[in-house]
Amino acid sequence: MSTDVVLVGAGLQGCGVALRLAQAGVGVVVLERSIPGAEASSAAGGILSPGVEAEPGPFHELCVQSLSRWRDFADELERLSGSWVGFRGGGTLEVSVDDRFTPVLAARAAMLERAGLDVSVLDGDDARRLEPGLSPETRGGIWFPGEASVDPRLLGRALHVAAVRAGARFVQGQVRGIAVEGGRVVGVDHESGRIAAGAVVLAAGAWSMQVAGNDLPVGAVRPVRGQIAVLDTRPPLLSRVIFSDKGYLVPRPDGRILCGSTMEEAGFEKAVTAGGLLHVLQLAVEIAPGLAGAPVVETWSNFRPATPDGLPILGPGRVPGLFYATGHYRNGVLLTPVTADAVSAAVLGRPTPVDLAPFAPSRLAPRGALR
Ligand SMILES: Cc1cc2nc3c(=O)[nH]c(=O)nc-3n(C[C@H](O)[C@H](O)[C@H](O)COP(=O)(O)OP(=O)(O)OC[C@H]3O[C@@H](n4cnc5c(N)ncnc54)[C@H](O)[C@@H]3O)c2cc1C
Repeated sequence: MSTDVVLVGAGLQGCGVALRLAQAGVGVVVLERSIPGAEASSAAGGILSPGVEAEPGPFHELCVQSLSRWRDFADELERLSGSWVGFRGGGTLEVSVDDRFTPVLAARAAMLERAGLDVSVLDGDDARRLEPGLSPETRGGIWFPGEASVDPRLLGRALHVAAVRAGARFVQGQVRGIAVEGGRVVGVDHESGRIAAGAVVLAAGAWSMQVAGNDLPVGAVRPVRGQIAVLDTRPPLLSRVIFSDKGYLVPRPDGRILCGSTMEEAGFEKAVTAGGLLHVLQLAVEIAPGLAGAPVVETWSNFRPATPDGLPILGPGRVPGLFYATGHYRNGVLLTPVTADAVSAAVLGRPTPVDLAPFAPSRLAPRGALR
C-alpha cells in the first residue's frame, strides 16, 4: 500500500490533521490499532478553557487561537458528519469554597484581564445566581464567559466520519515503527506490512514513544492517568463547567455531570481506583452538595500525553518527512482545531496559522545536545 501521508493514531489529533489533509486533496491513510477515538480522546471532559489552564505566553496564545476556531469547527463537523458534537457555550466558572483561595483567584483574574482575556470576578451570591446548584459555602469565583465545552465522544465520532467523507482512509492495526531510508521518512511498518508514504505524522498520544523510529528524546511523552466519575442529575443540577482548586465538574445537557479528574503517574495501568473515586466525588460534593444523592452511572480512566514542559509537540521532526501532533496533555480537545490547521499546513509546506517554534520537538533535545 502507498499514500502521500500516513497518520499514526486516530485520536482527535490524528483525525483532525487527516481531515484537513484530505480536504487539501492529499492522499491520507490513518492507522489505528483500536477504534478511532478509543483512548484519551473519548475519556476527556471536553472543557475548552484557556483561562483556567494557562498563564499568558505562547501556550496560552495557542489555546486562545484554538478556542476562537471552536464554534466554526463544531458547525463544520456537524455539517460534514450529520451528527452533533455537543458544543455548549455559557462560559466556565472557577469557584472558591475556601477563604484562602479567593484572593488567589482574584489575582489570577487580574493577570488574565491584563493579558486581554474576558474574565469577571464574582462574589458568592453572583456565582450562585449563575449556578444555583453551587454550595452555599461558595465564597466567590471567576467567570470566563467566552469559554465552552464539547462532548468528546460525539466529537471523536463526528471527526472520524468527516475525515472519511473528505477522503481519508482508516486502517485498523498496530504500527510497529516509522521507516527511514537514505535519511528521510519512507513510510511506516504496520502489522500488515510496509505502507509507503512521503510523510508520516505521529499522533499516537500517550503511546507516541512506543512507535519505533520517532526522533524524540527519551521521556518526551509519558502517560498521566486521569479518572472520571459520571453522576446523573434530573433535572440537570448545573449548566456550565465549574472548576475548583481540586478539580472540575462538566455538565452535559441531559443532566449527566462528569467529575474529574486525578493526575497520576501510574504508567499505563488503566484502572479506576478507590482513591481516585474518593478524590473526584469529594470535590464534586464540595462544589455542589446536591450531588451527594446523585447516582454514579459510569467511571473510567485514561492517559493524557504529557511532555516534560507541559507543551504539545507540533510540527516537523529532525528527519525529513516526519511530523508530530502529540503531547497535548490536559488540553487536547481544546487544541484540536488549531493542531489540525497548523500541523496540516506544516505537512503541506504552507505557512502555519500560528508560530509552531515554541512547540517544536527540537526544544526537547537532551540537555547539552547540539540542536
Ligand atoms: C481524564 C481526562 C480528562 C481530560 N479532559 C480534557 C478536557 O476537558 N479538555 C481538553 O482539552 N483535554 C482534556 N484531556 C486531554 C485530551 O483528552 C488529550 O490531550 C487528547 O485526547 C489527546 O489526543 P490524541 O489524539 O493525541 O491521543 P489519543 O486520543 O490517546 O489517541 C492516540 C491514538 O493512537 C493510537 N495508537 C497508539 N499507538 C499506536 C500504534 N502503535 N499503532 C496504531 N495506533 C496507535 C491509540 O489507540 C489512540 O487511539 C483529558 C484527558 C483525560 C485522560
